[in-house]
Amino acid sequence: MAGYKVNTPFRIAIVGAGFSGLSAAKELVSLGYEVEVFDKSRGPGGRACTRRREPGGFDHGAPYFEISSPGFIQVARQWYQQGFIAQWTGSFGVSRGGGIQPEQGVVNRWVGYPKMSALGRHLASGLNVRLQTRIERITGAAGQWTLVDETGAEYGEFDWVVFSCPGPQATKMIPDGCPLSDSTEHMEYAMCWVTMLEFAKPLSMKWNAIRFIRGALGSAFRENSKPGRDAKERWVVHADSHWSKLNEDRSEHWVSAALSESFASLTGASAAFVASHRWLYAQSAQRGIRSAMTDSQWQLTVCGDGLSGPGLDAAWSSGVTAAQDIHLSQRTKASHH
Ligand SMILES: Cc1cc2nc3c(=O)[nH]c(=O)nc-3n(C[C@H](O)[C@H](O)[C@H](O)COP(=O)(O)OP(=O)(O)OC[C@H]3O[C@@H](n4cnc5c(N)ncnc54)[C@H](O)[C@@H]3O)c2cc1C
Repeated sequence: MAGYKVNTPFRIAIVGAGFSGLSAAKELVSLGYEVEVFDKSRGPGGRACTRRREPGGFDHGAPYFEISSPGFIQVARQWYQQGFIAQWTGSFGVSRGGGIQPEQGVVNRWVGYPKMSALGRHLASGLNVRLQTRIERITGAAGQWTLVDETGAEYGEFDWVVFSCPGPQATKMIPDGCPLSDSTEHMEYAMCWVTMLEFAKPLSMKWNAIRFIRGALGSAFRENSKPGRDAKERWVVHADSHWSKLNEDRSEHWVSAALSESFASLTGASAAFVASHRWLYAQSAQRGIRSAMTDSQWQLTVCGDGLSGPGLDAAWSSGVTAAQDIHLSQRTKASHH
């Protein structure tokens, strides 16, 4: 694919400024395409996000990430050199019900520095990203797509549209008749209730993170043990996925009480601040069969962890694959003319 660059303005819209959308955007821009990214949230980064709280904040989406695929190793090395990520080290434990044991094996955990959302902001800088814009549908046809947001405002025209959001959200936007929705509507995700806790005094526990094998709690992360964070004692607790599903329709208040009580039974301390967030599409249940899917006739592409499997590494690679699929399709069309 090296060498071929588009030589006419070719406009691509990307719905979603998570890791897959941002990596697709960066790759497409480097190949010469004109790209505009749309996201409903206030900040870029998708599920790699931070809930603001003074002082400090809570990484209430992905708590950390691992780095394993070759393409991701390369970009992550640059982020590290630029100071946007740091390694998170310390004591990590596993609870099987009776006490906490150190985890077995070596896991290299990385975090955005000084918070998870800083990384998304860094990745979005220099790109054309339109935030707080929830796209509802797209109208038109290949080569002439218009995006319509929830207020009825229209954006476009675009030659091509990439959907980088979770499958069920993409399905609502994909036009009737396009075969891509056959896949997006079947993408499955585990849901997750997340509770954020702030304590008036430091807890005496030595652990920076704990994974729970049974019970309501799935895992717990000590925010102030991550590099660059405020020193105030703050934890993010993820409920177990079955517990989350079972309590899907409970109120935030009910979940906050239930999870903070479960955590207090471990620490003996009650929190001074508690809030909860429900992620309907927390982690994809997919195990990476196809990283992205393109329909060259419709000029539509789907990417994200719903295809690649969960994790920031996989989502990033999915966006790169999406961009390369589009470029390959355009190069093939150009060679037939
Ligand atoms: C609780 C939790 C724990 C996790 N733990 C880990 C972990 O330990 N390690 C790890 O690597 N990963 C973890 N993840 C998963 C990781 O965050 C995701 O796999 C990854 O962020 C997916 O990136 P993405 O680009 O595919 O999707 P997203 O990050 O979800 O990006 C999609 C974007 O699309 C936007 N969007 C959706 N619909 C619309 C619309 N209609 N209009 C405009 N914009 C729209 C959303 O606002 C979002 O910004 C976790 C996630 C959660 C929630």
